[in-house]
Amino acid sequence: MTIAATRQTTRITIEALQTKGTGGSLERGGGRLRRYRAAMALEKVADGVWLLRGDFRGAMNIYFLEDGDGVVQFDAGTRAMRKKAKAAAAELGGLKRVVLGHAHADHRGTAPYMDVPVLCHPDEVTDAESDAAITPYMDLSQLPVAWVRMLYPFLLKRWDGGAVKIADTVIEGDEVAGFKVLHFPGHAPGLIGLWRESDRVALVSDVVYLVDSGRLKPLPHGEASVPHPAWAWDHAKAKESVRKLAALEPRVVGTGHEAPLQGENLRETLERAAEKY
Ligand SMILES: [Zn+2]
Repeated sequence: MTIAATRQTTRITIEALQTKGTGGSLERGGGRLRRYRAAMALEKVADGVWLLRGDFRGAMNIYFLEDGDGVVQFDAGTRAMRKKAKAAAAELGGLKRVVLGHAHADHRGTAPYMDVPVLCHPDEVTDAESDAAITPYMDLSQLPVAWVRMLYPFLLKRWDGGAVKIADTVIEGDEVAGFKVLHFPGHAPGLIGLWRESDRVALVSDVVYLVDSGRLKPLPHGEASVPHPAWAWDHAKAKESVRKLAALEPRVVGTGHEAPLQGENLRETLERAAEKY
C-alpha cells in the first residue's frame, strides 16, 4: 500500500471512530470497546501533524510529524503508551526518530521501546540517560495538596520507561520535519518546542500547562499556566519561556498534556499564563 493510501485509511478510521462516539461514561461491554478504540485514534492537529493521546485520563500526548515517507515522533509520553505509539507510527508510514521535548518521566516513557534513534537538547542528555524517574531539581514538597504530593512519586515511576540512550542532539535553529527547533529553558534546562511559521503551529511539550498539576485536573477550557514551580529547573526562566512562546503569536499550541490550545488571541492567553505562579 502506498503511503498516501495508508494516510487516507488512517483518516477514515478516525472519522469512523468519531461518528461512533467515545462513550465517556461507565458503559460496559461495547461501550468499553468503543472507548478503547477511540483512545487509540490519532487526531489531526495541523497539516501533517498527528496527536496520540493516552494513559492517565488520556492527558498524555505524543505528536507524529509527517516527514517524507515516514514520521518523526515528538515527545514520548508514558511507558503504557508504547504499543499504541508503535501502531500509530506504523499506520503513518513508519517511525524515523524520536525527538524528546524534555526528559521528564511522562515525556520519555515510550522512547526506549521505539527502536529508532532518540534525540534531545544537549541540556537534557544527562536526565534522559539517568535511571531516575524524578529529576534532581524537582521539589515535590512545594505542591499544595498533600495526597497529590504523596501520589506523584508512584505516578512518575509508573509513567517512566527508564533511561534513554541519546543518539544525537538538536538545538535552537535546527529543523525537524519542517519545524524549527526553539529552546524554552526553565521547566527543564533543555526543554525544546517545534515552531512552524507558515501556519503558526507550535508544539511545546511542557513550556505551558493546560493542567493544574498540583490538583491533577485540567484547567478550565481556554486557560493556560506556566508549570508549577515544584517541577522547575529555573522558574523565572520558565516564565520567560512562556512569554517567548506568547510573542510568536501561535494559532495552535500543542502541549504535552490535554487537547491543543487553538485560537486567534493566544498571545494574551499565554501572557496571562506566564503570571500564574
Ligand atoms: Zn515536564
